[in-house]
Amino acid sequence: MTDPTPATTDPAAPRVAGLQLAEAPEAVLAALAARRRGDAPTHGGRVLSYVYDPGVPALDDLAADAVRAMQPVNGLDPTTFGSVAALERDVVAFARDLLGGDEDTVGTVTSGGTESCLLAVQSARDTWLAARGLAPGQARPRLVAPVTVHAAFRKAAHLYGLRLDLVPVTPSGAVAADVLAARVDDGADDVALVVVSAPSYPHAALDPVAEVARRAADAGVPVHVDACIGGFALPFWPDLPDWDLRVPGVTSLSADLHKYAFAPKGASVLLHRDRDRQRAQYFATTRWPGYPVVNPTLLGSRSGGPLAAAWAILRALGRDGLGVLAGRAREATLALRAAVGGIEGLRVVGDPAGPLLAVAADDDAAPERRVDPHRWADAAAERGWVLQAQPGLDQDGSVRLPHTTHLTVTPVTADVLDDLVPALVAAADDVRGVPRPDVSAVLGALPLLDADAPLDSAAAASLLGAVGLDVAGTGDDPEDGGAPGVGPMAPLLALTEELPAPLVERLLVELLARLVEPRS
Ligand SMILES: *Cc1c(COP(=O)(O)O)cnc(C)c1O
Repeated sequence: MTDPTPATTDPAAPRVAGLQLAEAPEAVLAALAARRRGDAPTHGGRVLSYVYDPGVPALDDLAADAVRAMQPVNGLDPTTFGSVAALERDVVAFARDLLGGDEDTVGTVTSGGTESCLLAVQSARDTWLAARGLAPGQARPRLVAPVTVHAAFRKAAHLYGLRLDLVPVTPSGAVAADVLAARVDDGADDVALVVVSAPSYPHAALDPVAEVARRAADAGVPVHVDACIGGFALPFWPDLPDWDLRVPGVTSLSADLHKYAFAPKGASVLLHRDRDRQRAQYFATTRWPGYPVVNPTLLGSRSGGPLAAAWAILRALGRDGLGVLAGRAREATLALRAAVGGIEGLRVVGDPAGPLLAVAADDDAAPERRVDPHRWADAAAERGWVLQAQPGLDQDGSVRLPHTTHLTVTPVTADVLDDLVPALVAAADDVRGVPRPDVSAVLGALPLLDADAPLDSAAAASLLGAVGLDVAGTGDDPEDGGAPGVGPMAPLLALTEELPAPLVERLLVELLARLVEPRS
């Protein structure tokens, strides 16, 4: 069948009388390319977070072509655009088969991990409320999870009015099944959902899914497995305990297509073991004078592009192809784990499951031989490798989690190990014995603040200036993206750990908000 909406072949010569393009498409694209020039590289393995490069250019081309083919379609209405339903069925079937579901497992393709997590929580909350004949706002049920659970669940609790009940983890990022399960099997009737991760983002800890799910099921509490990062990689990891829908008591699972299924950003899948919990995720209304609204996800109109790209990549790779790529990422992860473990003054945190790991200072080393992980990340950045600094965390009534540096490992990492490993070793040599930045002078120079008083944007901006962050942004050249490239992370992270979290959060909002304000 031919597409009823043919592309204009010569867009420079619009067919609409009186329409004159303000700028030729080639010039617009050149301007776009100029703005992209300052970006971190998305390919080649230099950035060890955010991007998931399979190292297979043909997949990039396939995804781009699939997006283009689907571009004009509105995913809002699969009854008008049947292709949307057809592709989504295929993706859900693939994920269901890979992740231990059965014929009753249903699912939805969402715009990403955060949306999958939000919807899992919303469905759990509304199911909990409905069972008690309550409306939203009439009760605030609990969401129980290890403190390492992805921030998307904090966002979900915030948006949907749940109380977060976070369980401390050991400094290696592991949660004791007993401690977690005790929060649900104490007879409490107010838990809407337990969330465990496979694995956790900060430390790659595989939470004790089976034990927690068994105890939660006994208490009648649903369990969501957040496999956003692990979902398309862990199925190919040997020697792991069951962690997916095979585990009785697991009621839903999220897995990001735009991570280890290598789709462009904008695709994740949320699976539910049972139909009714998925139906609770929908929003429907006929009580307005427009078209009947039936939304399985948070958006209304949405692009079919990310779905088509994810579908195309899954179809091209198949399960075997995914397995080969996961195997490459695993090889690289094991090599990095050994290499980092061999660097004096650093240590790999815990027992990472999957293609990611966190690195902390080795406290067994003498202070002058220790390597601060954020200094290390900054030194690696000087050498052209971008690692992700993670803050330490005080856990209420429990041990403090150390600050760490995160590495997400992709198949292409395996191709660059010969450059990466020596760079990581040299970066550690650069900063061995250098302590964390002392931020007391900066802190001392800050005006005294009432921690409870809200900051307005002007006050926040002046505070940012006081701590040395240029809110006007660099790159005043309108020809480039003006990426702020915040500079060394070690001082910034040290500072954020010293200031009250609400203040830091407000300052970061200001920083990011100013970044997109029009420049006069
Ligand atoms: C990435 C991630 C998310 C959130 O996914 P986004 O696609 O960034 O919204 C949730 N949970 C885990 C464990 C993740 O790694």
